Amino acid sequence: MDMKCMKCSEPYEWFYIRDEILIDNGYDYYDEVKKDGKDFPDLQFKFKRNCYIAECPACYGKKIKQDEKSEANSEMREALADALGDDVDGFMAECEDFGL
Ligand SMILES: [Zn+2]
Repeated sequence: MDMKCMKCSEPYEWFYIRDEILIDNGYDYYDEVKKDGKDFPDLQFKFKRNCYIAECPACYGKKIKQDEKSEANSEMREALADALGDDVDGFMAECEDFGL
């Protein structure tokens, strides 16, 4: 299932991020990222707590301009992520259901 970047809405296959980006680069998913979130400048990924994507290579360190709908969707994703906590699968399912 895809998880969209909170900032720019770029979709990423979640298992690809977790298993191939983080673990293959020597980062422990649970210890490094899940608890507090983490910034990986070398990978150009920034994660919020529970591994939600805060910034990705498409938007890392950039100021992006979103239209009103994209901005509203980003805000909805943020609110859902806060509400669902570590239920990342639930988050991705809800986003898909709501078309976020
Ligand atoms: Zn992004």
